[in-house]
Amino acid sequence: MQSNDYDVLVAGGGPVGLMLACELRMYGVSTLVVERLAPGADEPRTLTIHARTLEIMDRRNLLADFMAAEKATADLDEYRRRLANTSARGHFAGLFVLGRGTFAGEHPQELALSREAIEAVLTRRATGTGAVVRHGVQVVGLEQDADGVAVTVEDAQGRSVIRAGHVVGCDGGRSTVRTLAGIDFPGTEPQTVSWMGLGTVTGLDRLPMGWQRRERGWFMRMPDGRISTTEWDRPLPETSAAVEELVESVHRVTGERIAFTDVRFVSRFTDSTRLAAQYRTGRVLLAGDAAHVHFPAGGQGANLGFQDAVNLGWKLAAACQGRPGLLDTYDAERRPVAARVLRNTRAQVALMRPGPQVDALRELVTELLGFDEVNDHLTDAVHGTDVHYGGSDDPRVGTFVADRRLKTDTGTVRLAELLREGRPLLLDLTGTSAAVRTAEPWGDRVRAVAAPDTDAEAAVLLIRPDGHLAWAGDAPVPGAGLHTALTDWCGPAHS
Ligand SMILES: Cc1cc2nc3c(=O)[nH]c(=O)nc-3n(C[C@H](O)[C@H](O)[C@H](O)COP(=O)(O)OP(=O)(O)OC[C@H]3O[C@@H](n4cnc5c(N)ncnc54)[C@H](O)[C@@H]3O)c2cc1C
Repeated sequence: MQSNDYDVLVAGGGPVGLMLACELRMYGVSTLVVERLAPGADEPRTLTIHARTLEIMDRRNLLADFMAAEKATADLDEYRRRLANTSARGHFAGLFVLGRGTFAGEHPQELALSREAIEAVLTRRATGTGAVVRHGVQVVGLEQDADGVAVTVEDAQGRSVIRAGHVVGCDGGRSTVRTLAGIDFPGTEPQTVSWMGLGTVTGLDRLPMGWQRRERGWFMRMPDGRISTTEWDRPLPETSAAVEELVESVHRVTGERIAFTDVRFVSRFTDSTRLAAQYRTGRVLLAGDAAHVHFPAGGQGANLGFQDAVNLGWKLAAACQGRPGLLDTYDAERRPVAARVLRNTRAQVALMRPGPQVDALRELVTELLGFDEVNDHLTDAVHGTDVHYGGSDDPRVGTFVADRRLKTDTGTVRLAELLREGRPLLLDLTGTSAAVRTAEPWGDRVRAVAAPDTDAEAAVLLIRPDGHLAWAGDAPVPGAGLHTALTDWCGPAHS
């Protein structure tokens, strides 16, 4: 048997790779993150973080750090006011009419943070809890065997091999890990090409702040100074994005001539939409953009990736500790969620296309979004608050358990706070503590809390570390069902 240097090697230290490292370290999994770029070298992108991700960050005690980081990087009220001049909480295809959806949390519904700020928060947590993060190191090869994966990496010193029990490709849309693992990435070719840039722009006087739909495409001017265009059915240049391309695109779309100097970055992106054919092959897994890419309408990609990481972390930790059974549920649960995001972003691209027919369609969709139920439906889809891992006869199972205040023997505590150790949570809401006693043989892995609440959706709830419901019981004294659920999700009882 060959020994491994690390339990898990995460390829890619972007938002998703770092989040996964934080998750794995909660369970003591030895984790190496290799990132090919130097810290902060990636495009200075602003990412909108939506309600469900923020609820998850609360359950990891990262929400306060994210809120502090946003204060330091952007003023969201100003951002909203200037971007859309509306109280809407987000947009669908540039229609700034989305509301609150079914989100009922007490914290903000969204934050806008720079990618750099997100990575700083997550790097601090990951390294502070013992993950090793190495920059300037690129994965160039991998080979699986019965005991682990031999990963060839390249840095300034040359090539070397690192062995890990599992490898997770969090290395973005052009994932090397996905290619090396032979995982297909089927999908649709781009119809749009977009340019984005940050620098000093002169000649913008006639182009107001916000999103503008024009006859030949879209022009966006963001409060943080970025400008962007989106056009349809244009040839895709094969070279990397150039300033002149952005300037010419602004001219084609708006008719205005701008000058663009002191350029901090220019990038080009498309609506190429693809989903990995599988999220796992043996000891190699994918998460984030490595598993799915789509047009960034509605700001969903990083949110989707964070939720991949939180779904995967505890299952992979269990596999590292000798219980591989849960790992298959990762693909089964997360690929359908990504497929729905791909569907809504493809629909947004269709609804953004220039032309009088689409103008009419936009008017109709705007009318439909005036109905609360329709608005909630689309808001929940874009903000991730509709995620439900199905497969059980009980419709409660798989839902995300809402935060609430619980009265326990030792005082009032929020459900989110009880999940911060990343352990499954058994809530006995009956007042009898019978379920707490049933869970005693799992005491090393499961947090069991008695918190009487006759208005709750069940007598007993078993909540997974990612906040979704594993099992619900209605009888005050749980029968074999709870025993089975504890065994299935948390492993065998200790005798
Ligand atoms: C213009 C634009 C705006 C967006 N806005 C939003 C938004 O508001 N909200 C939102 O949720 N999403 C948004 N997205 C999407 C979001 O940026 C991505 O979904 C997110 O960055 C994915 O994170 P990731 O960690 O999976 O991949 P990436 O961010 O691509 O990170 C992958 C990392 O892997 C590294 N890497 C690559 N290959 C290797 C290798 N072989 N070895 C080692 N390291 C490697 C890369 O250097 C990189 O740091 C936007 C995208 C675009 C284009």
